[in-house]
Amino acid sequence: MSRPVFRFAPSPNGYLHLGHAYSALLNARMAAESDGHLLLRIEDTDESRSRPEFVKAIFDDLAWLGLSWEEPVRVQSQHFADYHANLMRLWNMGAIYPCFCSRKQALARSLPVRDPDGQPHYGGACRALPRHEAEALIARGNVFGWRVGMNQLGDPQAAVWGDAMIAKRHAGSSYHIAVVTDDALQGVTDVVRGKDIEPATPLHMLLQRLLGLPAPRYLHHDLVRDAEGRKLSKSIASTSLRQLRAAGATPDGIRHQLGLA
Ligand code: GLU
Repeated sequence: MSRPVFRFAPSPNGYLHLGHAYSALLNARMAAESDGHLLLRIEDTDESRSRPEFVKAIFDDLAWLGLSWEEPVRVQSQHFADYHANLMRLWNMGAIYPCFCSRKQALARSLPVRDPDGQPHYGGACRALPRHEAEALIARGNVFGWRVGMNQLGDPQAAVWGDAMIAKRHAGSSYHIAVVTDDALQGVTDVVRGKDIEPATPLHMLLQRLLGLPAPRYLHHDLVRDAEGRKLSKSIASTSLRQLRAAGATPDGIRHQLGLA
C-alpha cells in the first residue's frame, strides 16, 4: 500500500499563531504515526495580502517548532497556469462562468442569503451571458472572476454557497480552485485542517467530482481558542509564535500546551 500524504498549507498573510502550530503538529503526528509524507504548501494566491516576510516567517517558525517537511515546497503563486487549466476545463463543461460584476454591482444584485465566507449569494446576470459575449469581454480586458453555476448544476450546495466565486477578480486564482488542484497534483490523501474551513469542504468535493479528481480523506480539528474563548486569527492579533518565542516560550512548552507533546 502506498504511504499516506498529509500537508500543512498556511497562507502567508500574517504570522503563524498557536492555531497554526496545532494544525502543523497534528499533521506531523498523523504522518509519523502512519509512516506518511508531510508536505508544506504556501498558499499565496491572494497577492494583495501575501507578503514575503510572512513566507520567510512560516519556514522559521515551523523549523523552530521542530518540524520538517519534504522538498520541494509548493508555492501556489508559481502555479497559476495549473489553476487556469482546471478553470478552463470547468468552463468548457459549463460548470463555471466568468462574472464581470464589480463588488458593488454584485452586491446590488445579491440575494438575501450569505455563504459561509460571509459573501451574499450572487443573483446577477453574468451566468446568462453567452460564451462568445463573455469571451469578447475578456478579450477586451474586462476584469472578471469565476463563479460556480451551482443552481444549474443542481447541487445541494446551491443553498449554502450559491454561485460562489472560486477565482477572484484581480487575482490569478483563489483559494478554492487552487487547494483542490494542488491536493490532487500532490497526491494528498489526508487533509487535516481546522473546523473553520469545514464549510468549504463540500464545495471542494464538488470541484473534485467535476474534475474527476480523487477525494482525499478530510479531518477538521477543533480550533485553538484564546482566554476569552475567541478563535485565534491573524485579524485579532492573536499572540504569534514569534511573540511567544520572544517571551521565552519553548517548542516543548508549546507542544505540551497544545496537547501534542
Ligand atoms: N491556506 C488555508 C489557510 O491558511 C488553509 C488551506 C487548507 O488547509 O485547506 O487558512
